[in-house]
Amino acid sequence: SLVTRFAPSPTGYLHVGGARTALFSWLYAKKQGGKFILRIEDTDLERSTQASVDAILEGMQWLGLDHDEGPYYQTKRFDLYKEVVAQLLAEGKAYKCFCTVEEVDAMREAQMAAGEKPKYNGMWRDRTDHPSDKPYVIRFKNPLDGVVVIDDMIKGRIEIANAELDDLIIARSDGTPTYNLTVVVDDWKMGITHVIRGDDHVNNTPRQMNILAALGADIPKYAHVPMILGDDGKRLSKRHGAVGVMQYRDNGFLPQALLNYLVRLGWSHGDQEIFSIDELKDLFDLSACNRAPSAFNTDKLIWLNQHYMKTLPAEQVAEHLAWHLAEQKLNTENGPALTAVISVQAERVKTLKELVEVSRYFYEDFSEFEENAAKKHLRVVAAEPLALVQAKLAELSTWDAANIHQTINAAAEALGLGMGKVGMPLRVAVTGGGNSPALDQTLYLVGKERALARITLALD
Ligand code: GLU
Repeated sequence: SLVTRFAPSPTGYLHVGGARTALFSWLYAKKQGGKFILRIEDTDLERSTQASVDAILEGMQWLGLDHDEGPYYQTKRFDLYKEVVAQLLAEGKAYKCFCTVEEVDAMREAQMAAGEKPKYNGMWRDRTDHPSDKPYVIRFKNPLDGVVVIDDMIKGRIEIANAELDDLIIARSDGTPTYNLTVVVDDWKMGITHVIRGDDHVNNTPRQMNILAALGADIPKYAHVPMILGDDGKRLSKRHGAVGVMQYRDNGFLPQALLNYLVRLGWSHGDQEIFSIDELKDLFDLSACNRAPSAFNTDKLIWLNQHYMKTLPAEQVAEHLAWHLAEQKLNTENGPALTAVISVQAERVKTLKELVEVSRYFYEDFSEFEENAAKKHLRVVAAEPLALVQAKLAELSTWDAANIHQTINAAAEALGLGMGKVGMPLRVAVTGGGNSPALDQTLYLVGKERALARITLALD
């Protein structure tokens, strides 16, 4: 059966490029009823941190990219790697190399001076006169001739001559396995059938295929996903702004929007832009992925975010809004249902973060009014209309939008004033500023007691 994996190195947060690779692997497995494995490649002890592991797991969870197996940790699998290295050595498929660092450097320099590509020359490949007291590394005996063919599911056919590849170190002098070896052993032992990863690994692939072949393992299919570029055509990085998945959460994006955005970054299905996860599980395919890099476009992500805020069931948006309100220390017990706020505000904002900013007054009282709005609407002729509308609102026995609407209209009429002359002071009084959803809805959601108290404050 089909098995894919996501194999991040925990040396930082989960960035959008990694998340997109994970998404492609996850979708490809889901589409075919296969398995998706999460493997943490933490063998670089100096650069790997627990904080990064946590950040990756948190990012995957927030995006809803659940794994069927794992997370596996490579640092817990050293015995297995050592066994495989010993096996390769015993079978004559790997050998001990006693070159010192200085010798390898000298070899390279001589090659470069001769205008050749620097490459380990295999000098210990067939030697048997092993010194007994010198440190050594173990190198894989790469085939000397022939061609490795990658039938890449995205990039198409790639050929590499074995003559180009040197004998890779698979174990360091302290016995620890190297990156290419651990990946190979894991892809083999975990039964990975499809390796979907960033194309920065395409140079490793022929080497890994050779080691797999030496082990008698099935060679998986490979799909190398092109990189993501920033708006200046350079590889997407921190310079371009937010690149961490959790930064997008913090900035007020919905995971549904980010997922939809990421899948379209390098994959397309006609000119369709909006995809539900279920649709993607059905439609996604590697053969429809771009061979060329894609450029990150924040405007499009914002557009998708607005789309999902408006169209997802409000309960789903509410889960994420609750997180943002809590971040801002706003007590949701202390105001209207989140779903009600979403239904009046979602159209008016781009992100959940903005939604919180324009909805504070539902959950938090204030003692000051926005300076400009107050100047324009409260400090002019507002006292009489406000006092009257307050008195009429106070009499309402049923506090709902329709009654509130009627009351405001009646007050405006009684005063012989236009709606604006009554409505705007009222809006500033009750929300603290000049922007809000429809006044009747807003007052309804703020609640009667609170609305009246705020008018009193404004009349002070
Ligand atoms: N650990 C590697 C990385 O984070 C990925 C290796 C792979 O997918 O084969 O770049």
